[in-house]
Amino acid sequence: MLFPLRPNSTIGIIGGGQLGRMLAESAAKMGFRTLILEPKADSPAFQLSNQNIQAAYDDITALSELAKKCDVVTYEFENLSLESAQFLERLVPLFPPSVALEKAQDRLLEKQFLEEKGALVAAYHAISSVDDLMAALADCGDGILKTRRLGYDGKGQKIVLNHISTDEAQSSLSDIGRGPYIFEKLINFDLEFSLIATRSYAGDVVFFDPAINYHENGILRRSVVPGNIHHISKNNAQELANNILRSLNYVGTIGIEFFAIEDNIMVNEFSPRVHNSGHWTREACNVSQFDQHIRAIVGLALGDGRRHHDCEMVNLIGDEGKDVANYFEKPNSFVTLYGKTESRKGRKMGHVTYLI
Ligand code: ADP
Ligand code: MG
Repeated sequence: MLFPLRPNSTIGIIGGGQLGRMLAESAAKMGFRTLILEPKADSPAFQLSNQNIQAAYDDITALSELAKKCDVVTYEFENLSLESAQFLERLVPLFPPSVALEKAQDRLLEKQFLEEKGALVAAYHAISSVDDLMAALADCGDGILKTRRLGYDGKGQKIVLNHISTDEAQSSLSDIGRGPYIFEKLINFDLEFSLIATRSYAGDVVFFDPAINYHENGILRRSVVPGNIHHISKNNAQELANNILRSLNYVGTIGIEFFAIEDNIMVNEFSPRVHNSGHWTREACNVSQFDQHIRAIVGLALGDGRRHHDCEMVNLIGDEGKDVANYFEKPNSFVTLYGKTESRKGRKMGHVTYLI
């Protein structure tokens, strides 16, 4: 492939949600065309892209067409099957590379990989039976049971308390969906923060300022920047991010979630894509996480992602996305809506960034 790609080259994006939509916006701004692969009609990203293919993510015919029509392919979520990613990778440049998906889409492999890279993670056990769960509880005390795959926004997970009966343990397993599962010790952290970084095709790495994140029911509610994050934690987080990115030969934006306990950090998980806790970069930085991702995957130099405002990002969840006119009255608030017509409980409909 000839890098950097020329203007009007086509970027394929797998996944038609809000992340794909905001990637398409950044791509258009830089003079690239986008083609979205997504099974659902009228998806947020279809509305702002040049072309789309409405088909299942693992539809081989659709993936072949995508590879043929695009100069580079990326994805907005980590649940593209590894087989599909590897199939695509043989036909067209795919960024981030499939190995990043492999490590991120299974919580057990993810923890093992993070430990190899020197990260501290919550004590964990692989769980495939109720006996495994009882043994994990006896070892760690209270914890969180999670499906190893396909969980997001707190879905596919449940807090399990020590001393529950075998029957209760059994129903916890069936409640959260299909196994295999992972059990993680419940961490009593001081705060949660995330670090968004981008690695270019040439191997340069740039960081955004870390954001402090507040979750409600497992869903991100607010991100605040700057946060009161110990400078040692910030440095350690950046060093770890560098290790992760280099070892995956990564190209693109990554989001890494941390728990902070005093000046110690523990990695919760990472996402090989742009991240909800980095949406504020669209308004508070000259170059956003979406811009950096597009620059990276087309082989352009990364931009200056320094923050020019303190800010807070608030997600609009469910019905909160309906009456938004009042946000427009505040000069420092910036609303992004994702174009979703149906609001469901827990569904992310948009977000507001307040510049301070
Ligand atoms: P998701 O993929 O749904 O984002 P996470 O593993 O990030 O799943 O969990 C969602 C939220 O649940 C986290 O941001 C954190 O607030 C809480 N959480 C997850 N794992 C733990 C843990 N081991 N200890 C304490 N809280 C946790
Ligand atoms: Mg998370």
